[in-house]
Amino acid sequence: MQASVSRKMADEEAGATERMEVSPDLLQTPQQLASWWDQQVDFDTAFLHHLAQLVPEIYLAEMDPDLEKQEESIQTSIFTPLEWYLFGEDPDICLEKLKHSGAFQLCGKVFKSGETTYSCRDCAIDPTCVLCMDCFQNSVHKNHRYKMHTSSGGGFCDCGDTEAWKTGPFCVSHEPGAAGTTKENLRCPLNEEVIAQARKLFPSVIKYIVEMTIWEEEKELPSELQIREKNERYYCVLFNDEHHSYDHVIYSLQRALDCELAEAQLHTTAIDKEGRRAVKAGTFAACHEAKEDIKSHSENVSQHPLHVEVLHSEVMAHQKFALRLGSWMNKIMSYSSDFRQIFCQACLREEPSSENPCLISRLMLWDAKLYKGARKILHELIFSSFFMEMEYKKFFAMEFVKYYKQLQKEYISDDHDRSISVTALSVQMFTVPTLARHLIEEQNVISVITETLLEVLPEYLDRNNKFNFQGYSQDKLGRVYAVICDLKYILISKPTVWTERLRMQFLKGFQSFLKILTCMQGMEEIRRQVGQHIEVDPDWEAAIAIQMQLKNILLMFQEWCACDEELLLVAYKECHKAVMRCSTSFMSSSKTVVQLCGHTLETKSYRVSEDLISIHLPLSRTLAGLHVHLSRLGAVARLHEFVPFEDFQVEVLVEYPLRCLVLVAQVVAEMWRRNGLSLISQVYYYQDVKCREEMYDKDIIMLQIGASLMDPNKFLLLVLQRYELAHAFNKTISTKDQDLITQYNTLIEEMLQVLIYIVGERYVPGVGNVTKEEVTMREIIHLLCIGPMPHSAIAKYLPENENNETGLENVINKVATFKKPGVSGHGVYELKDESLKDFNMYFYHYSKSQHSKAEHIQKKKRKQENKDEALPPPPPPEFCPAFSKVVNLLDCDIMMYILRTIFERALDKDSNLWTERMLQMAFHILALGLLEEKQQLQKAPEEEVTFDFYHKASRLGSSAMNAQNIQMLLEKLKGIPQLEGQKDMITWILQMFDTVKRLREKSCLIVAASSGSESIKNDEIIHDKEKAERKRKAEAARLHRQKIMAQMSALQKNFIETHKLMYDNSVSEMSGKEDSIMEEESTPAVSDYSRIALGPKRGPSVTEKEVLTCILCQEEQEVKIENNAMVLSACVQKSTALTQHRGKPIEFSGESLDPLFMDPDLAYGTYTGSCGHVMHAVCWQKYFEAVQLSFQQRIHVDLFDLESGEYLCPLCKSLCNTVIPIIPLQPQTINSENAEALAQLLTLARWIPTVLARISGYNIKHAKGENPAIPVLFDQGMGDSTFEFHSILSYGVESSIKYSNSIKEMVILFATTIYRIGLKVPPDEMDPRIPTMTWSTCAFTIQAIENLLGDEGKPLFGALQNRQHNGLKALMQFAIAQRSTCPQVLIQKHLIRLLSVVLPNLKSEDTPCLLSIDLFHVLVGAVLAFPSLYWDDTVDLQPSSVSSSYNHLYLFHLITMAHMLQILLTIDTGLPLVQVQEDSEEARSASSFLAEVSQYISGCIGCDIPGWYLWVSLKNGITPYLRCAALFFHYLLGVTPPEDLFTNSAEGEYSVLCSYLSLPTNLFLLFQEYWHTVKPLLQRWCADPALLNCLKQNSAVVRYPRKRNRLIELPDDYSCLLNQASHFRCPRSTDDERKNPVLCLFCGAILCSQNICCQETVNGEEVGACIFHALHCGAGVCIFLKIRECRVVLVEGKARGCAYPAPYLDEYGETDPGLKRGNPLRLSHERYRKLHLVWQQHCIIEEIARSQETNQMLFGFNWQSL
Ligand SMILES: [Zn+2]
Ligand SMILES: [Zn+2]
Ligand SMILES: [Zn+2]
Ligand SMILES: [Zn+2]
Ligand SMILES: [Zn+2]
Ligand SMILES: [Zn+2]
Ligand SMILES: [Zn+2]
Repeated sequence: MQASVSRKMADEEAGATERMEVSPDLLQTPQQLASWWDQQVDFDTAFLHHLAQLVPEIYLAEMDPDLEKQEESIQTSIFTPLEWYLFGEDPDICLEKLKHSGAFQLCGKVFKSGETTYSCRDCAIDPTCVLCMDCFQNSVHKNHRYKMHTSSGGGFCDCGDTEAWKTGPFCVSHEPGAAGTTKENLRCPLNEEVIAQARKLFPSVIKYIVEMTIWEEEKELPSELQIREKNERYYCVLFNDEHHSYDHVIYSLQRALDCELAEAQLHTTAIDKEGRRAVKAGTFAACHEAKEDIKSHSENVSQHPLHVEVLHSEVMAHQKFALRLGSWMNKIMSYSSDFRQIFCQACLREEPSSENPCLISRLMLWDAKLYKGARKILHELIFSSFFMEMEYKKFFAMEFVKYYKQLQKEYISDDHDRSISVTALSVQMFTVPTLARHLIEEQNVISVITETLLEVLPEYLDRNNKFNFQGYSQDKLGRVYAVICDLKYILISKPTVWTERLRMQFLKGFQSFLKILTCMQGMEEIRRQVGQHIEVDPDWEAAIAIQMQLKNILLMFQEWCACDEELLLVAYKECHKAVMRCSTSFMSSSKTVVQLCGHTLETKSYRVSEDLISIHLPLSRTLAGLHVHLSRLGAVARLHEFVPFEDFQVEVLVEYPLRCLVLVAQVVAEMWRRNGLSLISQVYYYQDVKCREEMYDKDIIMLQIGASLMDPNKFLLLVLQRYELAHAFNKTISTKDQDLITQYNTLIEEMLQVLIYIVGERYVPGVGNVTKEEVTMREIIHLLCIGPMPHSAIAKYLPENENNETGLENVINKVATFKKPGVSGHGVYELKDESLKDFNMYFYHYSKSQHSKAEHIQKKKRKQENKDEALPPPPPPEFCPAFSKVVNLLDCDIMMYILRTIFERALDKDSNLWTERMLQMAFHILALGLLEEKQQLQKAPEEEVTFDFYHKASRLGSSAMNAQNIQMLLEKLKGIPQLEGQKDMITWILQMFDTVKRLREKSCLIVAASSGSESIKNDEIIHDKEKAERKRKAEAARLHRQKIMAQMSALQKNFIETHKLMYDNSVSEMSGKEDSIMEEESTPAVSDYSRIALGPKRGPSVTEKEVLTCILCQEEQEVKIENNAMVLSACVQKSTALTQHRGKPIEFSGESLDPLFMDPDLAYGTYTGSCGHVMHAVCWQKYFEAVQLSFQQRIHVDLFDLESGEYLCPLCKSLCNTVIPIIPLQPQTINSENAEALAQLLTLARWIPTVLARISGYNIKHAKGENPAIPVLFDQGMGDSTFEFHSILSYGVESSIKYSNSIKEMVILFATTIYRIGLKVPPDEMDPRIPTMTWSTCAFTIQAIENLLGDEGKPLFGALQNRQHNGLKALMQFAIAQRSTCPQVLIQKHLIRLLSVVLPNLKSEDTPCLLSIDLFHVLVGAVLAFPSLYWDDTVDLQPSSVSSSYNHLYLFHLITMAHMLQILLTIDTGLPLVQVQEDSEEARSASSFLAEVSQYISGCIGCDIPGWYLWVSLKNGITPYLRCAALFFHYLLGVTPPEDLFTNSAEGEYSVLCSYLSLPTNLFLLFQEYWHTVKPLLQRWCADPALLNCLKQNSAVVRYPRKRNRLIELPDDYSCLLNQASHFRCPRSTDDERKNPVLCLFCGAILCSQNICCQETVNGEEVGACIFHALHCGAGVCIFLKIRECRVVLVEGKARGCAYPAPYLDEYGETDPGLKRGNPLRLSHERYRKLHLVWQQHCIIEEIARSQETNQMLFGFNWQSL
């Protein structure tokens, strides 16, 4: 109602303008224009006139358009008037109203390439039915068995299509009447007037779009549009094609247009994206010249010239606008179903006068000629109109089918991807069940498709009208597959209701399909090559690929045919006829006669080894399939009504499949080895799971058909004849040619095997009485008999049906149990014991190797269980009636003859025409025969059982030759020692003979007398008793075994543990000493000593003679400071593992950075790790040089960077880049009495001035001397004269340690490496920062290891890995030695700067404030540098043990106090801490201390924090520091730590730490003890203006304990991540092209990977977004998750990386790289944790190196572009 009122008002306004009678060109407002149009009789003309005037104007600047302005003028001058015209009122208001009313029933979201789609295995009609991400997340299928896939683009979301889903067709937002669409809105259809306007408007719009799109004239426009004076402006337009690479196009453009690279690139990118682009504007002549230039240049680089056209500017403009109008139309249609219908009607209307097809068909037919961009928009137009309205979808489909042939042919000769071809729409229509049915009934679409195939394939037909794909083009044939695929789509849902018409049309289609099969039956024939090897392997892939494509289509055809009996019989008749037609040549060939033991067969003469043969027999196999269905329906009896007996000719039917099987046998017997690999591959695929259902399996069935319908003796004679073995069984053979004998033996084996299959394989519904589930179950059982398998491997070995399902999940739990995976590997299924009884050694889908593996495993298993080793066949299921006669093969004369002959030969010492394998098969056949007889006897009375294996086998032969019966032969075979392995089987058979005999007798007895049955029963009771006894024994054996197994597994575990350790251990394993140190430490003898590391009470260093073995020369050597150096392989790396400030920009250029002080955020540290492997320095140098040499000779591999000293550890292949010299610890012991005495003299109050005096003394000395003044100034008042330059020496000195030159050399080398890598600078042995880098890596490495131990909840000392232990030890001792390789003045200079942090009396202009440094780094530096104060020009001295212990104690106490202040100043008052005793001593001290401090800090810190809170915060905050200090002093001094630090990780640790480090447990007592000395320090620390500044910027301050880094949180459900990725937009580009979002697991950033748009330049090299991100996020090392692929990648530097299993597993415990399987994935927390540890252990580089070492071959990925 509302709408019509406003309409009237609009009319009135329009009326007003009308009276003005102005020309439409002058009409200013859209509204006026719309009403002017409204008054025209012919809207079309007015509309075109308007466009003709405006469009060329708007699109004038084609080469360099102002897109925004262009869009604005289109909107105001064209679209808005059109919308006014349509609605008659303000379109904005109207569209807003319509927004909800036209709500789609269908989602219809069109997928872009790379988008994730979801299907539901429970509910989707077929796997082509998919949902978009949003619909899926809002649907019920989220909780079903869904599949995720990556779209290749072009499809669309099926949400809302009730035909696509069995249940849950709507998501929440597309449900009719769902949220957002109120009922009122729903019932608001368009009013009549708008509809009427639409009917006028849409036809003109669509006509314009179509006509401009298919416009072919280059220079002229349609006359209606030619109203302007024609200008002379042309464009040279370049089109995209698939022949030319990016670089070709750029090259051609640069040459032809003489333009810059950037411009050519710009054009090329646009062409690649849009499909065409104007590259030059100008006169026709100029453009033409450019065109010819481009063509000729492009012809130079590849055979095809580029496609270039010269277009008039107005043509170009209108074509552009037509597409824009299309998008507008899309938008309008999204508002209303009425609009869509009107649009579709307009598209379908055929012009009565013209021959032309309707508009939409013209568009379709033009598709292949269009460029990419145009196609995309037009396809979207089809999606948003026809495909959203079911009724019109049908009309569209009919048009599509009408032109199907032509469309496909054009697609096949087109060179664009299928995803942008209109033919790709077929899946949207053909898979809709009702549509498919309609198309079959009305248009016989099956015939249309098959005829299309027949028309596009003739180029592959040979003169016999068979296909031959030699020299085929892969691309072209690939396009043909698309047509084959359409057949699959049409057939994918079987009709439930058959109309007469459907039946008729389907049959027509089937017949037409048979024509294709006829061309395949017998195609690509081959002949055995004798003499010479074939020269070229023929192409075989194409034919096999077609077989693969056809497999499910053939099966579906058979199933459709089997929908009803009548149809099936007719189809059978047709197929039979076709087979016969293909067999005429065979029937006319000459005849031959075979005779054996009284039976004769007359057959055609044919030899597989001489005549032509083909492996492709789709007709025969289809017939076999139909026959099985016939048997299943019980309709075989009616067959003769359709195929008369005399026409049936079963020998002809059997012939070709039999030949194939013989071919396989001959290939196995190596008779065809001169025919090359192509034949081997064909035979492989013939039996492979991808093809076998419609090849090998059907051939076996055909032989079963033959066996069921032919006389068994004749059948066997035929088989013998075709295997070319009749001769071999005639006993006339006597050859000494070993090759020939082997060949015969193989052929006999192969034949016996096939006979076993014919008789024993009944697991096909219709052949035997089995269900599909039973079939699948049996396949799985046999796979698992080989060993436990993961889900994906089982699925790989099972055939997939048309819905890509294997039926695995439905049955697997019946036969197997699932074993969950550990932290690595995958979950596996293990066969249940009760399923073992179904194991058949001669399972026909086993390959040779599977067969022998399974046999081996099963025999072993039985042996372990103390069972006999016989593996008789399991009782097979019953044959269906139509196949029941197959068993007669078993007891026929020829079979008996064959078996007997084999046994006799085995007993004959002179015969070598037998093998053990052959015997095994003969036994198997015997067993099958006896089982069959037993089963029959158990079911029916004896006289009815005609099957008589027993008697025939026990009958004596007539001639002297076979005077023994089979039983007797068996007894003899049992005695042959070589056949020991078969003994159990023979016994089993003989027992079976007994059983059958008894059954025969029993039934006789039943008939004779009832008393007889008693004995049988007794017999049975005895039998049962035996059974019970056996069972008991077996049970006992099982228990025993279990016990042994438990022990074994315990042992194994131990073994694995030690093995694992061995890896870390190999040093100590070889030396045998290292471990003993650790052990020694815990022996009681040592525990008597003090376990205090610092001060007068310090315990002794525990040292031990170290004899190590070099992993390179295997020689032992004792480590001594005067010996030649031994070294540990090591790797130095930058690390952000501890950062409190992830992604902090690396502001340093290594040139200027001063690494003396570490920022408290530990943003970038230098970590030194070692794999713990020891070498002689000399050996290592030789090794390194050798590696260098060998790499210079080899092709360059980016495995490691030799120039920066990288190499792989010779033993464990870890990546290393340096070595740590191993220096023994210098034992220090102090006399505690002396030390205590010294305590009186050397208090902290005296120590400080003594140190300062020394420093000041140096200062004066240097000031006088040659060196420039050290920047140290003293505070006035500290210069107490009692402390003079030499005081420090009076507390005890000794001479410095003298290291061997070899050790010194290694120390310098290692120190230089740390410096080089830590600062990323070229090596410089003289750089003053070398010692500071040494201290820095010591401190950081300890912090990293402490952090890791804490993270894992491990004790500080007991849990260190050997490699960590050895690494730390070597590192600390190295650090001591490093000092002596530097000028002491330099060390002093550093020391003074370090001390100035805690001793503010020392003035150094660049001392950072207390809050902006890490104090542990200061501690390590100060302790290591301190001995430099003892240096003198003349004598090289160092402090004595006693002096050292005081120096350490005071340095540590001072720095600890500073750290306490640091912690309290940055205290976080908002933590939920557990309150401890309010009134403890510590709490009180804390309160009073803070009160004191707050005086100096001028209130920057609140005094109101409760004491207990302060204390707890302090304790928590300082613990990591104390732990680091304990590690440091332990490895520095070798003092044994208290026992508790080896075991406890949390409780009680604190007090033990304090005792080891000579600290009071109430740390505040430190301040009390030293109050007079410390108070001035405290005041100065607090008074530092920089510190106050830091405190004011409270947020940026680092708090203690520092937070522990972990990898970002990942969602449990992987689809959530995919969801995130789908919303990802590249920050650099605006297009909607596919992106590769990659997630940084360190910081959570999502990056646009492997894309030019986000490349960055680093040092002049282009690197991808990820590599660039890694540089600052992880100092070059990073862990990423490629979201679309569900792959983790580790990267290092610019060129290295490796894949790592993602922490997401499906329900079967498997990862899914590339989402190939698409199962739902969930986060495995254990695996994610493992990844976290890889990071925190600094093992990323190691993982990469190791993976590269193992995958060297596959190493092709350009990591730099990541
Ligand atoms: Zn959707
Ligand atoms: Zn939906
Ligand atoms: Zn579902
Ligand atoms: Zn050596
Ligand atoms: Zn190693
Ligand atoms: Zn990051
Ligand atoms: Zn990007």
